[in-house]
Amino acid sequence: MQAISLDMGGTHIGCAVVRDSEILAQFSLPSHQARSLESLLPSLAETLHSLLAQTKISAADCTGVAVGFPGIVDVRSSTIYSTLKKYEDAKDFDLAAWFLREFNLPLRMENDARLALLGERYAGAAQGYDDVVMMTLGTGIGGAAMLQGHLLRGKHAQAGCLGGHLPVDFHGRICACGNIGCAEAEASGWSMPLVAKSWPGFASSALASLPEIDFKHLFDFAEAGDAVSLAVRDRCLEVWASNAVANIHAYDPEIVVIGGGVMQSADSIIPFVQEYVNRHAWAGGSRPRVQAAKLGNYAGLLGAVPLLSEVFDVSAA
Ligand SMILES: [Zn+2]
Repeated sequence: MQAISLDMGGTHIGCAVVRDSEILAQFSLPSHQARSLESLLPSLAETLHSLLAQTKISAADCTGVAVGFPGIVDVRSSTIYSTLKKYEDAKDFDLAAWFLREFNLPLRMENDARLALLGERYAGAAQGYDDVVMMTLGTGIGGAAMLQGHLLRGKHAQAGCLGGHLPVDFHGRICACGNIGCAEAEASGWSMPLVAKSWPGFASSALASLPEIDFKHLFDFAEAGDAVSLAVRDRCLEVWASNAVANIHAYDPEIVVIGGGVMQSADSIIPFVQEYVNRHAWAGGSRPRVQAAKLGNYAGLLGAVPLLSEVFDVSAA
């Protein structure tokens, strides 16, 4: 199968033409300055026509378009239930109609973490597994779950997607979602700098000299022995590990795949989370494996073929 694949991230839209598990051509379209999804459409059309030309494949040779969207999306009705302060106009814009006009292709839109799970199962770390939890550690903490080969979706399309909003500390911070002490509110790209700045001794930490605190510096400074960086890093590891256990208790996977920008430090994260899971997760049989995502930014793009191959029971939508 050949398809057009889009992965709509916070700062870029990943665009690709794929054939099965192969990316034939791809381009990362900057989107951070875009006012709206609609304002991006001319450059998106130009990019996709150029990628098709590069691969010498016409739109008519493609089965459809798969789109990973950063929000709560019902793939069965192409409804966007909520956006996360990005592409806010997408809720009221008929992207499917635009793709039909522009490329004469049908569209399927799915939550970006679910699409990444499909990609990792199709061509990455979760190949051969039917029961999978995906955690994405980035600006927020995304999640998705697959049970017995089927993505978990639920009545309002949010099942499995809110793994980062399982609480790890009910005395913790208020989260963007309204809950208290979510994993995302304690150890994500947006919350970790707040945690660090309120840590005792922060003023004398190497972190205090940074204009912006990010995970790369946190891990580097921790490695170099900075006491506050070490303490905040270790707390983040515990939050992620505790969140992995919560996901395991909720979804009973064989494997937990962890992806996202923070996984540049996978060598520190994966052994810690695996060991914590071995100690603390309830497991009747074998302990779930914890593994780093393999496909990086391409996971969502490679979710296109499995998403477009999926057969839906329309009567259940
Ligand atoms: Zn939350």
